[in-house]
Amino acid sequence: MTLDPECIFCKIIEGQIPAEIIYRNDNVLAFNDLNPQAPTHILIIPTLHAENAAAVAALSPTIIAAMHRAADEIATEKGLTGYRTVFNTGADAGQSVFHAHLHLLGGRVLAWPPG
Ligand code: 5GP
Ligand code: ZN
Repeated sequence: MTLDPECIFCKIIEGQIPAEIIYRNDNVLAFNDLNPQAPTHILIIPTLHAENAAAVAALSPTIIAAMHRAADEIATEKGLTGYRTVFNTGADAGQSVFHAHLHLLGGRVLAWPPG
């Protein structure tokens, strides 16, 4: 299926749930995270429903590439001097929404390793 009517991020794609949209094209949508972990914390999602990054890559290498390109374009547009992109896959890695999303974090010095 293209979109899942039960999925919160599909509802954002359809405009049923509001979000602060940062960027949009045919393949991806980007919006501010509701609970930001850095001054810039944006989620970049495919405009089709897929559970995680590997599922997106299996469906469409073009879309997984578009997600990364969108992240870099947004970071450049925001003047970030460094940024981190993260896919959490599975509950043990902290994934809580099962519609693939690339976190874009920046605007402060980011510690390594992550928790
Ligand atoms: P995960 O933990 O799955 O890697 O990331 C899910 C992210 O989605 C979290 O950072 C959380 O704050 C964000 N989030 C969850 N629900 C919503 C929502 O309805 N709107 C927005 N903008 N972000 C959300
Ligand atoms: Zn979805």
